[in-house]
Amino acid sequence: MKIGVLALQGGFALHQMSLERMNVQTTLVRKPSELRGCAGLIVPGGESTTLLKLLHNIGLVDPIREFAQYHPIFGTCAGSILLAKCVLNHPMEPLGLISASIERNAYGRQVDSFIDSLELKLNGKNTAFEGIFIRAPKIQTVGVDVNVLGLNKLEPSSEETIVLAESERVLISTFHPELTEDNLVHQYFVDKVLKTAN
Ligand code: GLN
Repeated sequence: MKIGVLALQGGFALHQMSLERMNVQTTLVRKPSELRGCAGLIVPGGESTTLLKLLHNIGLVDPIREFAQYHPIFGTCAGSILLAKCVLNHPMEPLGLISASIERNAYGRQVDSFIDSLELKLNGKNTAFEGIFIRAPKIQTVGVDVNVLGLNKLEPSSEETIVLAESERVLISTFHPELTEDNLVHQYFVDKVLKTAN
């Protein structure tokens, strides 16, 4: 089994390293033909408007939409923006692969990036995970077909925000699991890919 990592811009190398640490075969995807043979795809963080422009220029928008009909896709940070149904505060048309609305740069500027101790609910079990948020978006609403797998609660407002969510085939996180050495979230995605492939 091989998982593709979209490698146009942003943090693709660390996602590749995370998967390789788990002995999962990977391939970098820079053109439509490189999706062939992939059982799943990771769309990394970076700059979502740049990534979207590159996807259009290279002709990867429709191939990824078709790929998503049968294969799991995991989007982190800018990747989650690209996979969402709508972006609330920026005039862009994301791929619309998961019914979620998302707000870009929702915690503020680059200097407002932070690390938070998260409690993720994966496979019915609560597990602690270090969430690294870099100029992160917020998932503001999700559709009925989307499960929330993680929330963060930041002081002083204690307002809860969705940081990890999934539909049948799409997983999105607003934090960067590839920046920690804990494989938990990548393992969850690999299991989703394995379940779909079998
Ligand atoms: N701020 C970026 C955007 O809106 C996302 C940042 C990231 O991927 N770390 O595209």
